[in-house]
Amino acid sequence: MTDNTTSPTPLSLLGAGAMGTALARAWLAAGHPVTVWNRTPARAEALAAEGATVAASAAEAVAANRLVIACLLDDASVGTTLEDADLTGRDLVNLTTGTPREGRERAAWAQARGARFLDAGIMAVPPMIGAPDSGAYVFYSGSAASFDEHRGTLAVPAQTRYVGADAGFAALHDVALLSAMDGMFGGVLHAFALVRREDIAPKEFAPLLSDWLTAMAPWIHQVAEQLESSDYRTGVVSSLAMQVAANRTLLRTAEEQGVSTELVVPLADLMERRMAQGYGDEDTTGVVELLVTDTDTTATATA
Ligand code: NDP
Repeated sequence: MTDNTTSPTPLSLLGAGAMGTALARAWLAAGHPVTVWNRTPARAEALAAEGATVAASAAEAVAANRLVIACLLDDASVGTTLEDADLTGRDLVNLTTGTPREGRERAAWAQARGARFLDAGIMAVPPMIGAPDSGAYVFYSGSAASFDEHRGTLAVPAQTRYVGADAGFAALHDVALLSAMDGMFGGVLHAFALVRREDIAPKEFAPLLSDWLTAMAPWIHQVAEQLESSDYRTGVVSSLAMQVAANRTLLRTAEEQGVSTELVVPLADLMERRMAQGYGDEDTTGVVELLVTDTDTTATATA
């Protein structure tokens, strides 16, 4: 994961929270000079002891280096922090979690101030940062020229995946994966709730759940194929009608076990609706058609 071939690039890091600190440590360990600024100065002290230079203000940190990384709480804190900084000629890389629209608007905002801009979405928790083979990676989108110039430095804390010039795409990929994880976690919690009051040890049940979800995961590729062809009937193994019937059993089982159905009802309802529209012989994939509503996905500029 760590790209040791890149020459040391001095960089400024805004934000020494849990993630910012992990990132700084990875760059420092790889020999990259780091200037750090944090709103609460005490939080940057540990990094100073490890070799980072502490800037007295965000503007001072931005002035120190051409490559500026922000890892702050949210998009609003990025705006506030950089209010008085001169971004002319800077490469601003925003590792702060935000929405696609915030990424696009922040790109236009940074460009108007003379900076190249990359937005990012971190697919890792702090202990995975800088840890070889942890699987950590970061989505980047926005200025391709900026990414190409800094990809070696950016690859130090975690692998990099550039997903396009549209500055909103990093956040979109990030949030799409997190949303899938939420759904999966919801299903896992519901499954544990079903067996909670029975003589079934969670630790014995866990590997069954884990193996089952792993075995089902390849279905994702079938969904992709069906979405690309807009043909939800080819290759159907378990039709929507069959799954709707199974859902009813699933809901009755929850009631029998005294378990709330609130985690599983939304999807079951959508599948019922799709079937009522006459698509019972299709795959579940068609539910995507019910989810996509007309909304303005375009915003200001791409990088
Ligand atoms: P922390 O809560 O540990 O740190 C938040 C950072 O933001 C601190 O440096 C804090 O400064 C700063 N901050 C908050 N509000 C403001 C403000 N109004 N103005 C200036 N600075 C502000 O969070 P993390 O470091 O964990 O997260 C940072 C980013 O990384 C977030 O966008 C998060 O979503 C993302 N991320 C985090 C992951 C994680 O597991 N931790 C995983 C993936 C992404 P101060 O110390 O003064 O409060």
